[in-house]
Amino acid sequence: MTLINGATEKYGIIGNPVAHSFSPSMQTKAFQALGINAVYLPFLAQADQLGELLQAFQLIGLKGFNVTVPFKEAILPHLDELSPEAQALGSVNTVTLQEGKWIGYSTDGAGFVRGLAELDFTPKKAEICLLGAGGSAKAIAWALAQAGAAHLTLLNRSPEKAVALQNLLRQAFPPLSLSTKNQGQDFDLLINATSLGMKDGCPADNKLIAQAKRVSDIIYNPPQTELLRRARKLDKATQNGAAMLLYQGAIAFEIWTKQPAPVTVMQNSLAESLQTLRS
Ligand code: NDP
Repeated sequence: MTLINGATEKYGIIGNPVAHSFSPSMQTKAFQALGINAVYLPFLAQADQLGELLQAFQLIGLKGFNVTVPFKEAILPHLDELSPEAQALGSVNTVTLQEGKWIGYSTDGAGFVRGLAELDFTPKKAEICLLGAGGSAKAIAWALAQAGAAHLTLLNRSPEKAVALQNLLRQAFPPLSLSTKNQGQDFDLLINATSLGMKDGCPADNKLIAQAKRVSDIIYNPPQTELLRRARKLDKATQNGAAMLLYQGAIAFEIWTKQPAPVTVMQNSLAESLQTLRS
């Protein structure tokens, strides 16, 4: 195991709150697993001090950081460049320092799509129903479109937000078929990207669940939402949000280190952290 010394590289996460984050443990273990001399720390940030914080990060030689709630949008004006996804989504969760410039990325959507392998599923040519039109839903919809989905049905409590997301995708991915109404067809995948189910409630009725072959809920706490419980009763393959959480972090790690992430190590770390929520 690499010990901290004068050459230790520094990474971190900014958020408010940030103490609950699993990323410091997951990323530090990933660095250790590959023998990279680096640490990853939590930084409690304030909205009106983001510019000063980034200056301080440069002064202390921080190489990169993650961004969590509530700064995924607020960080944008403080960055020098954005990846095409981050630019289109107006949201950043990963920042790297390159030649003195802060470059912002959004790895949530790509992380979700990579995690679909755990369901033995690839979005290419698939018919998908996505519930929600908030930050996570936007990132997921963008990544599904990029991965070659054939059709996306976008359903949201506030329908105007689903229509706005449809318009964004229509401009960026002209061949993609889109709808903001459930037309009763079968879906290869139903995704919950709303926050409904974190405490109670279910974002889909049994009729909609029955239309889908598989169900993925991006909520990871609780591990079994009411949606996943109902889907399992209907014999659907299911997945919770731990996969997205893992792979968004794995992709961030790969952006910083340019090496394949030690996914099993990161997965074990996450499983341990998630276990502490339940004990
Ligand atoms: P946002 O606040 O950006 O969006 C929330 C979404 O949930 C909106 O579509 C909103 O609808 C909908 N919603 C909220 N309450 C209800 C309700 N009572 N009934 C129906 N719809 C509702 O949040 P995020 O997109 O950032 O996060 C959404 C969820 O994803 C959270 O639960 C979070 O835990 C989870 N998440 C998981 C991640 C992972 O790695 N697995 C990463 C990030 C988030 P409306 O537009 O009408 O308000």
